[in-house]
Amino acid sequence: MKILVLNVGSSSVKFQLVETDEASIAAATDRRLARGQIERIGGEAILTLSAAGHEDVRRAHPLRDHTAAIEYIVGWLMSDESGVPITSVGEIEAVGHRVVHGGERFSQSVRVDEKVRRQLEELIDLAPLHNPHNLRGIAAARSVVGPGVPQVAVFDTAFHHSLPETAYVYAIPYQLYRRYRVRRYGFHGTSHRYIAYRYRQLTGRTREGTKILTLHLGNGASACAIVEGKSVDTSMGFTPLEGLVMGTRSGDLDPAIIDFVSSKEGLNLNEIDSLLNKQSGLLGISGLTPDMRELLAEEAENGDRRARLAIDIFCYRARKYIGAYLAAMNGADALILSGGIGENSPEVRRRICAGLEWMGIELDDAKNKAIVGGGEGRIDGAKSRVEVWVIPTDEELLIARDTWRVVTGAELQG
Ligand code: ADP
Repeated sequence: MKILVLNVGSSSVKFQLVETDEASIAAATDRRLARGQIERIGGEAILTLSAAGHEDVRRAHPLRDHTAAIEYIVGWLMSDESGVPITSVGEIEAVGHRVVHGGERFSQSVRVDEKVRRQLEELIDLAPLHNPHNLRGIAAARSVVGPGVPQVAVFDTAFHHSLPETAYVYAIPYQLYRRYRVRRYGFHGTSHRYIAYRYRQLTGRTREGTKILTLHLGNGASACAIVEGKSVDTSMGFTPLEGLVMGTRSGDLDPAIIDFVSSKEGLNLNEIDSLLNKQSGLLGISGLTPDMRELLAEEAENGDRRARLAIDIFCYRARKYIGAYLAAMNGADALILSGGIGENSPEVRRRICAGLEWMGIELDDAKNKAIVGGGEGRIDGAKSRVEVWVIPTDEELLIARDTWRVVTGAELQG
């Protein structure tokens, strides 16, 4: 089945066209036929389009809204330029959408009908920055591919539905949870779930008896403790701001800082929110960039002190979460690193794991250095009591597989 996967933001659309079915899921041979992204929708948009076996295309084109962007994508998929083997819209059999917030209602992926659409609207309050765009994407896709083509919502929060109360209730007055559902939701769920599934596939293990700790380290970063295939704790909270140090997000901090900084700097709450989400993290500490690769280069080439500090704090916070989740799970079989940083930086992996020997985690230097650029495999040393893996995440693939399963009624994996 050919499935269009969409991730719709305020002025952007990322897409992939994936061919998948039961046999290809079992053998991990699903085919990615095309991918790309459109940015700056609403004006002269910037398009990056890439199809298997063809040169990447980058161009500017005026696109007034998300419907126009999705129309363009579908038109390009059918064109000779893309070379993708579809000739009519009807060959796109389903659309899978990344939806950020599923609240307490959605514990797994669902087909979007009128009732689900209304329920998603009710959740806008919890994710005002994301869910409205996701909903707009669903409406736009429907108008382009037609109302008969199933649209499936795959939620960032759904995998964390299994969190126990002890992990999701904050130690603030309980009525705030009762009244407004203020609690830990967790995000990046599709990524953690994919990594855990892939680990079991690579090792031939079943869910039973497995305990793993996944670190998704990209621009956003989060940790997840997974017992028997279920998320039991995760570092992002009510919003994606909590937890690890990220590209531009602070992660954990003392909430008293908010009032103090707001009065000292004369900032209102919106400005503080933007300071913590967009000007903090690696960017805030280094004063240079949110990009880990650039920070590593600054440190190595110029010995930049604050670049080093940013990397050190990033690694230290990750190490503390490893300690916390090993305690939460009473040990683990495997620690798995993923995301742009986890997949590509042996240096950051080394610095995160340095000093965890007492907990039974040791890396093999050569194996660690050997995995970059999309490779996957084990990097722990002979004496390590915990397996350490690098497994590239693939949220779009899992969205496509979930979409196939929801549409065909097959059991959801992972
Ligand atoms: P997103 O969360 O937006 O999907 P990614 O998972 O692509 O982001 O991760 C982006 C991060 O990965 C950036 O900080 C980038 O610098 C980092 N990264 C990518 N390649 C490398 C590399 N070779 N070494 C270190 N960091 C890298």
